Amino acid sequence: MTLIDSHCHLDSEDFNADREAVIARALEAGVERMVAIGSGDGPPDLEVAVRLADTHACILATVGVHPHDASKATDETYRRLAELLTHPKVIALGEIGLDYHYDHSPRATQRAVFVEQMRVAQDAKKPIVIHTREAWEDTFELLEKHWKPTGLPGIMHCFSGSPAEAQRSLDLGFYLSFGGIVTFPKALEIQAAARMAPADRLLIETDAPFLAPVPRRGKRNEPSFIVETARQLADLRGVAPEAIARITCENFRRLFGDVGWAVLPASRPTGRLV
Ligand SMILES: [Zn+2]
Ligand SMILES: [Zn+2]
Repeated sequence: MTLIDSHCHLDSEDFNADREAVIARALEAGVERMVAIGSGDGPPDLEVAVRLADTHACILATVGVHPHDASKATDETYRRLAELLTHPKVIALGEIGLDYHYDHSPRATQRAVFVEQMRVAQDAKKPIVIHTREAWEDTFELLEKHWKPTGLPGIMHCFSGSPAEAQRSLDLGFYLSFGGIVTFPKALEIQAAARMAPADRLLIETDAPFLAPVPRRGKRNEPSFIVETARQLADLRGVAPEAIARITCENFRRLFGDVGWAVLPASRPTGRLV
């Protein structure tokens, strides 16, 4: 079974002791690509994921300012993001969006930085990866106004809404990326969304080191655990795990094209490049 982890934080200090072993375990489990999310601790360092992509064939990267760090963004940040989006292994801008649960940055600042980054992504013609928490209405409003007219796609990362919110995301042309939460017994709404989502809009992710799937819940999450999420999606949809693996890989490649593959010597996992 070949899988792609569409969203993980491999730069996290939780992996400092054994990062290479974590990556090796993922490859061993069939995770042929991992998208390292470049949010890190926020600006000025925007390259936490790029550094990993530069040194590992199996890792692709994003760049972007997480809503938590919105107050740290400056004009220089947007200029640098635009520059980094031309890197051959940087496939999307993210994670960006709104987090009204933690409110680490003022909401007005979060909205302004979100909109500004959509502009940067539009100029680069790159998809966006959305983080939204307790902020669905404002997220949809801003996406409908500033993103839908671009005709470009996006990903709802760690989708954690209801079927109604799934439908609104789909209407915007978004892909739904399901993470470990979909395996939690009480996540009935998310499971309902996972059942109704069209097969050609499904992606899976770990969001490692956060939100490990059952039966690893509560432990540090890592990309190899994505197999559990694939199994759960397969159960919910009444198909084989291999079918979920195949369709999510196909969707990923349709969304990102050959970006990230073209620079590699072979389409099978090659582990470290240097
Ligand atoms: Zn997130
Ligand atoms: Zn994340």
